[in-house]
Amino acid sequence: MTRTIALALHGGAGAKAGRDYTAEILHMRGLVEAARDRLLAGAAALDVVVETVAALEASGLYVAGRGASPNRDGTYELDASLMDGASSRAGAVAALSGFQSPIAAARAVMENTPHVMLAGDGAAAFAGAQGLARITGPDAWFTRAGAAESNHAPGQSPSDSAALGHGTVGCVVLDLEGRLAGGTSTGGVFNKLPGRVGDTPLIGAGAWADRTAAISCTGQGEYFIRTAAASQVVLRMRLAGESLETATAAVLAEIKGLGGEGGLIAVSADGSIAMPYVSAGMKRAALYPDGRIVSAAFAE
Ligand code: ASP
Repeated sequence: MTRTIALALHGGAGAKAGRDYTAEILHMRGLVEAARDRLLAGAAALDVVVETVAALEASGLYVAGRGASPNRDGTYELDASLMDGASSRAGAVAALSGFQSPIAAARAVMENTPHVMLAGDGAAAFAGAQGLARITGPDAWFTRAGAAESNHAPGQSPSDSAALGHGTVGCVVLDLEGRLAGGTSTGGVFNKLPGRVGDTPLIGAGAWADRTAAISCTGQGEYFIRTAAASQVVLRMRLAGESLETATAAVLAEIKGLGGEGGLIAVSADGSIAMPYVSAGMKRAALYPDGRIVSAAFAE
């Protein structure tokens, strides 16, 4: 059993060169410090992932939760997923409307249903029955944090997935008991078609956790689905003996080769952390096992 902790979080790989992300960098550092304190007090990786992702959602600073952007028809459909590496349990919601915290809904699916994912109206009915916090006035609630990161004017229709602007949040944690967990939450890509679901709620694409590593992805989700990105990282480690760093770099190279962009955060059972990206930047922060904290949007 390890007696070390490590964690990483991200605020999306949609960061645009030249934009000032000082507020996000400070916010992410504060969340890492809070998560560190919780972990040192013995909190479980799963709880810290949910708390951290919920705080990222609630901040309105990133394209997830309160910061999400609307679909092409003006409605907000949010995706999230969560996986507990120690038990291989998982929960997810897709195209969820009307609730403040998609990651809370994903946890409820994991813990209170026999299913892994609920979508659309069924997800909303379930979240309501679970008593999760609703959004009463979307126009006042959503901050549209990603407006400055969108490549498109409202109503403009990108014709291929490589053109899609995007944003997401996520967190991966190794706790004192050696347990790994990961979670991801998003408003998706900008100007998406109603009903579009990306990689974020798909276990194995946008998030994964087992006893080898925990991974949370961000980027043009269509490419992360087509490469089974998150689960491919651990398969490379387990079957090909690659390091976390080599495996994550290989997956992102495949995505880049297909014409996509994005990044991911990952932590392995020995406390190694990788935060590679093939995009202009990725808002990210991490606590390394030696206590060092980094928080950045572009190259350090
Ligand atoms: N992966 C997310 C999606 O495609 C967006 C992002 O991570 O920026 O929905």
